[in-house]
Order: sequence, then C-alpha cells, then structure tokens
Amino acid sequence: MTPSPAAVEAAGSIPTLVIDTTAVTANVRTIGSATDGEVMAVVKADAFGHGTVAVAKASLAGGATRFGVTTLAEALDLRAAGFTERILSWLNPLDADFAAAAAHGIEVAVPGLAHLAAVRAAPGLRVHLQLDTGMARDGASPEEWVALCREARAAEAAGLLSVVGVMGHLPCADRPGHPANDAGRARFAWGLQTAHDLGLRPADHHLAATAATLSDPLSHHTMSRIGAGLVGIDESHTARLRPALTLTAPLVQVREVAAGTSVGYGHSWQAPRDTRLGLLALGYADGLPRLASNRAEVLVGGRRRPVVGRISMDMTIVDLGEADGPDAPREGDLATVFGPGDAGEPTAAEWAGWAETLEHEIVTGLGPRLHRITVGEPPATPNRPTLTPKTIGIR
Ligand SMILES: *Cc1c(COP(=O)(O)O)cnc(C)c1O
Repeated sequence: MTPSPAAVEAAGSIPTLVIDTTAVTANVRTIGSATDGEVMAVVKADAFGHGTVAVAKASLAGGATRFGVTTLAEALDLRAAGFTERILSWLNPLDADFAAAAAHGIEVAVPGLAHLAAVRAAPGLRVHLQLDTGMARDGASPEEWVALCREARAAEAAGLLSVVGVMGHLPCADRPGHPANDAGRARFAWGLQTAHDLGLRPADHHLAATAATLSDPLSHHTMSRIGAGLVGIDESHTARLRPALTLTAPLVQVREVAAGTSVGYGHSWQAPRDTRLGLLALGYADGLPRLASNRAEVLVGGRRRPVVGRISMDMTIVDLGEADGPDAPREGDLATVFGPGDAGEPTAAEWAGWAETLEHEIVTGLGPRLHRITVGEPPATPNRPTLTPKTIGIR
C-alpha cells in the first residue's frame, strides 16, 4: 500500500485520488465497537470506488472477519487476490456459474425458489436464504418464504447444499425510528422463526447494514454487513466515521477576465467583477456531477473558491478572485476538490448535497482517468509512520 515515488511525483501534476486505508481500518473498529456481532466487509463495486484489495485488507485489520459482494465475479476476484476468508455473493442471475462458486467456497444468497433450483444443481454450496424485509427489491416475499425454507431443508437433507444463513435488508435504516424499520425487524424475526420451525439451523442471521448497525441495536443479530461505513459514509449521522478519499487537481491555467465576462458552456455564469479564473483538468467524465455547476466549491490556497460556469466533461472552472498579490493562486497550485475536511476542504458529502444525491453516488462514480494512490499502514507493520496526503507531499 506504500505508493511508489513515481506515483507520488505524479500526484502534484495531474488530478489524483488518494485512498487512505487507515481511515478504513479506523471506521471498521468504530463500527465493530457498536455491535457484538461479526462484521462482514461489503466490498462491492470496487469497494465503493476505493479499490477492493486495499479496502479488503484494511477491513480485516480493523476486525472484519469476512466479505460480502454483489456478483460472483467480484467474489472470484477476491479469491484470485488471495483472500481465504468467507465470502457471500448476493445478487446473481439464474444462469450464474454456481459450480465455480462451489469450487471456490463462495457462499451465495438464495432469494427465491427459482434460484434454489439453480443452486441445487451445483452441489456443495453454502447458502443464505434471503427474505424481503420491506423493499420489494431483492429477497423472497413472505408468501414464497415458507416454500423456500421447506425446499431448502429438503435439499439440505439430500446433501445438496447447506443453509448457513438467513438475511434481510432494511429499507429506511438511514431514518432511525422510521416505522418501516420496526416492520422489517418484525418480518425478519418471523422469517427466522419460520426457518427454524421447518428444521433449518442457520448460524448466521444478518439484517443490519451500516446505518442500522450504528443506530438500531435491535437489528444487529449475529452479523452486520458494512459497506458505506468502511469508507466513512454514515447515513444515520450517529457516528464519526472518517472519509477515506481525497481528490486533488492542479490549476492548469489561470486567466484574468473583466467584469461581465460569460463563462463556460451555455454562459451560465457572468463575472460580477474583474476576477481570475482557474482551470482544473477534470469534469463529469471523472465523476464531478454537472448538477454541482455554480454550486460547488474547492479549496485553493487555504480558501474555499466557487466552481463557476458549467462543469464540462474534462474541465472545471474556479473563481479565484481579484487579488494578484504574492499569495494569489498560480498555475500548478493544487485545488482540493474534496477530502475528509481537515483543512477546510469540502467533503464528498458536501458535493453530494450540491448534486442533490448521496455521497455513495459521488464516490462510486469517480472515473478511471483519475490517478489513484493508496496510502496507509500495511496491517503487518503497526509501528511504521502513517503515510498521509501531507507526508507524501500533497498539499
Ligand atoms: C450494499 C449492501 C449492504 C451494505 O450496505 P451499507 O449501507 O453500504 O453498509 C448490505 N447488504 C446489502 C444486501 C447490500 O446490497
């Protein structure tokens, strides 16, 4: 996880995303202290855009014991990277390669009878029966649940699979106290009881994701599936988690413009006074939402500066103000687009607000063109100094 000198060198001159794995480890510790249950690190979607392998390692260092992913492909990637922990994959089509899952010891969710039939055809799988606990999205309906449990028990008795878990997912966990959470917990309890009555003995029962783990102890059961919280996102706003990403970009050009100058596509902004505009070489192709045009801010030279004009595919314009003294921002100076907020820079959560979306969508939408550097403490050597954006020379 130590970045190469070349990677650090490059960071000053091109748009760069720094992933701080020490934040991930700390977040897992914080979340783990909120529950007696096991922590499953959900590293789907490239660990929410942060890099699967680095986040997986940092999660184990923080006390996570196993992994959750969406697709079998993601699970097989973890195996290929050398992870031997238990892995659960919960969303697969009927013709997914369940034989490969069995061969690699990957557990799968079974959300209905059709999937049960597909999974039976690949003997030896460990499965988690999935109940819809109020989203009408994934998982079996209560109507199907009884038959699903009965047939799963029959398949288990025939030696075709073993039911090791029962899972659900709450629809409104980001709003503690919302009645849908009570209803979801109650339905989950009913589903567990039903499974038990029909002869199943799943050791794992898991309902809570990040927000419920942090705000709703009644939802905890034997394990929590933690995704957003790994990377510092807490929709329940109850814990202080640390964002793991910092996005910087140098000013590639600074120009003076006269009052009244129209800026960018569509002329959506006019300079109200003579000013200086800074150009950043990143745009919506890199994940900056166009909706944040004329709303967002970035930090340059220790001060927040507004994003003006339309964010375009590859470029973003920042109003640096009039001053042309020795402290005025110059070409090559770094703008911090977002980060943990320590130096006054915006957070990804603020960008989400400017774009009328969730922080999740900001961090998972960052484009492949960004230079990525992963920093942090390799888990095996706890006494080495921590590399932070500051210590590797990113201002
Ligand atoms: C993404 C996901 C999680 C993780 O949720 P977070 O709120 O990101 O912690 C857990 N369970 C399921 C089924 C998911 O799809």
